[in-house]
Amino acid sequence: MEGVAYTTGLDLDDDHKEIHFSIDYIQGIPEARRKREILGVLVHEMVHCWQHNAFGTAPGGLVEGIADWVRLNADLAPPHWKQEADGDWDAGYQHTGYFLEYLEQRFGKGSVMAVNQELRRKKYDEAAFWQKLFDHDVATLWKQYGKSLAKKAAGNPTEESEQTESCGDHNSGEVVEKNEDHRKNDERRQHPRDFAQEMKDLYMT
Ligand SMILES: [Zn+2]
Repeated sequence: MEGVAYTTGLDLDDDHKEIHFSIDYIQGIPEARRKREILGVLVHEMVHCWQHNAFGTAPGGLVEGIADWVRLNADLAPPHWKQEADGDWDAGYQHTGYFLEYLEQRFGKGSVMAVNQELRRKKYDEAAFWQKLFDHDVATLWKQYGKSLAKKAAGNPTEESEQTESCGDHNSGEVVEKNEDHRKNDERRQHPRDFAQEMKDLYMT
């Protein structure tokens, strides 16, 4: 097969899915990285089994971004991934995945789950969707993400609190909440993950 992997529904019903994973691709992964890469791809594909897509109207880049965001949070990001705010927010995969992680850090744990839940409810209307969830349009959020990356690159250690202030319309309570989330994320990363449980927590509640 061409490509790395894909997930498809079965004729039986929507609750049954099939993940296809290229043997050629697996054979080409350097041995030192093979296990983590296989797990990472499987996590990504498993997200497609459970996530919602606004009845087929969600941007493909957002759907792929959510899948890679879960992979990132499972601590299975491959070494070539990097954060970047060039181009469009919905270019997909890790490009969008890191943007979603920025939203998760800024607006608190559960933000990406809220994105998925909103995609479960109704068809995608870009303006209303982001305004409802994050009180900003997505172009503004993407710009603010770019600024936060630029500050990080400049090595400003106070980047996070300053960035929250620069949003202008968020109260100081959010800074506290966000810092707690950092801690939670650190705790989560220290423990081995049960991926199936994680997917369920993320997408089936
Ligand atoms: Zn995918």
